[in-house]
Amino acid sequence: MNVCLQVSIRRSAANFIAAALLSVCALANAGPTGTVERMYVFNCGESKTKDLSVWSPGFNVGKAFEFSDHCYLIKHAKGLMLWDTGMSDSIAAMPDGLVVGGGMLTLRVPKTLASQLSEMGIEPTAITHLAISHFHSDHCGNANLFTAATLYIQEAEYDAAFGPDAAKFNYAPANYDKLRASPVVKLNGDRDVFGDDSVVILATPGHTPGHQSLLVRLPKTGVVVLTGDMVHFEENWVNRRIPARNFNKEQSAQSMEKVAALLAQTKGQLWINHDKVQNAQVPKAPDYVE
Ligand SMILES: [Zn+2]
Repeated sequence: MNVCLQVSIRRSAANFIAAALLSVCALANAGPTGTVERMYVFNCGESKTKDLSVWSPGFNVGKAFEFSDHCYLIKHAKGLMLWDTGMSDSIAAMPDGLVVGGGMLTLRVPKTLASQLSEMGIEPTAITHLAISHFHSDHCGNANLFTAATLYIQEAEYDAAFGPDAAKFNYAPANYDKLRASPVVKLNGDRDVFGDDSVVILATPGHTPGHQSLLVRLPKTGVVVLTGDMVHFEENWVNRRIPARNFNKEQSAQSMEKVAALLAQTKGQLWINHDKVQNAQVPKAPDYVE
């Protein structure tokens, strides 16, 4: 990390020194060709409910709860991949937040994703790979910023989100309609994104028709699986509970078992997007995890 910091400081002073240091930096950070260098975790919104039992039927009745909402940027030798785009940046301008789901949830965006990326010197057009766990608004709110990227999406999710019945699935196409013109890779199952087993999209249907999760093999942390909305908070994971609003219960149960088996096999960790308590320990951008 320090070597790279030196690069950015010295670059303007003397280009030849910068070039020399850059090669050191590449060696220090990249590891073997074609691996994940690091992952940035962004706060992409927060939400509050007065009744958590909507997500855990029969349990936590009337219990108030706060959810986190994250986006993840993976720096790989072959590109920059964004996983989920959070709540719409437009919510940041709403002083009382945005109430959705008939009063079920109040959403807030403390800081826009666009400004967080900008402060790190990252243009949205620099994102080469975009994958979204599913097309609910708190995961694809800023998708329209990333039209230069190739979109990786399960075919079932594509058909639901871009088909004529998007509203039936509680999707709001205005959040992502510009992606219609993007290069798209439609999937029917898992996908090793960079061909080196370091970033693998996992088909985990159930929450929505083509819901997916993401396995990331980090150089120091090891395997991390990013949930999307396969599960919303730790207690539901431990007890394998499925929210009331869910596309297919049986598929959700199977997806959880699939991920549990993978975690056991890889000694991996499950990083639950909406679990605020769990995420309090995760460094946020511009800091990163390796
Ligand atoms: Zn969702």
